Amino acid sequence: MPYELNDKIKSIDPYEPEPGSYRVRLDANESFLPPSDKVREAIRTAVDTIHFKRYPDPLAAELCAAAAAYYGVNAANVTAGNGSDELISVIFNAFVQKGDKIVTFAPDFSMYPFYGRLAECPVLTLPKRQDFNIDLAAAADTVNSENAGLVIFSNPCNPTSVGIPSGEIVRLIQSVRALVVLDEAYMDFYGDSLTARVEEFDNLIVLRTVSKAMGMAGIRLGFAVANPALTAAIRAAKSPYNVNAVTQAIGRAVFSDTDGIRHAVTLIKASRDMLLGELNRISKEIPGSLKPVAADANFVYTQAEEAECLFEALKKSGIIVRRFGNCLRITAGRNLENVELINAVERFYTSNR
Ligand code: PMP
Repeated sequence: MPYELNDKIKSIDPYEPEPGSYRVRLDANESFLPPSDKVREAIRTAVDTIHFKRYPDPLAAELCAAAAAYYGVNAANVTAGNGSDELISVIFNAFVQKGDKIVTFAPDFSMYPFYGRLAECPVLTLPKRQDFNIDLAAAADTVNSENAGLVIFSNPCNPTSVGIPSGEIVRLIQSVRALVVLDEAYMDFYGDSLTARVEEFDNLIVLRTVSKAMGMAGIRLGFAVANPALTAAIRAAKSPYNVNAVTQAIGRAVFSDTDGIRHAVTLIKASRDMLLGELNRISKEIPGSLKPVAADANFVYTQAEEAECLFEALKKSGIIVRRFGNCLRITAGRNLENVELINAVERFYTSNR
């Protein structure tokens, strides 16, 4: 008898980053900055202390203490994960059961429906408003009337770069019975985090990552921040040695340079504002071309006329961004990368009309 894949795995679309090599990569919301000299030095020292023949600390205690200090909480509030991506998967495996409803929004991070499907949970995707804001009061009503088990969204949002003030999110957390998973992957750029308030809520898990503002996507490290009861459940559900010893050592080094993190955030926000300013200029000079959205993260989201053709033209010029239907998401890059992108966009719209 031939082996048959089950329906769940047959129908899953794998997450596929843009393949190919490009001169200018503005597609993955990574940082354009290398680690600071101080962090590099701290990494060298930390790596020397690793006991390579031993399994790593299952709870990554020292690393979680360093992260906790940065996020303004206690170590008992923090669980480390192999990227925040892994933590989303752990949370979906642990806090909902087959058939429980999960609520998310569109547009938002594509991995939420992905993990929802793997957990065999129906995913209700609520559309955002035209301006990409969420009607959180209506969302709370839906979460309750559908008896959803979990609601998840990113703040600021990937892909729109729109941030929601924490006060509005608190009202949602307080008005639903469901677990709220608040994905703050880009919060370092927005500065309105709820990490320091997790003890106030019995239904809030906040996710953070070192992949964006800290420029450490390569080491795969994220955190779940929650009250001790939820933290105990996350720790119980994760695989024992989920964060390897090298990542634990490097992660500790990353948090040793908080001034460096702040400086990087300032530089990245300046790059984003330059990019947004130039895209706004194009949208005014060439009416109907672009419609950029005010940006709170390290990337800019814009509607674009002939988005698919523009996306292909950028690729031909060696520049990769992300396309979502008639919108593009462009990561803030180094100055020269932004200039190349802007020039290519301008060239596209002036030569096409
Ligand atoms: N959440 C959001 C909203 C993201 O955009 C990303 C990265 N694309 C992640 C989570 C995952 O981040 P990581 O696994 O690198 O921590």
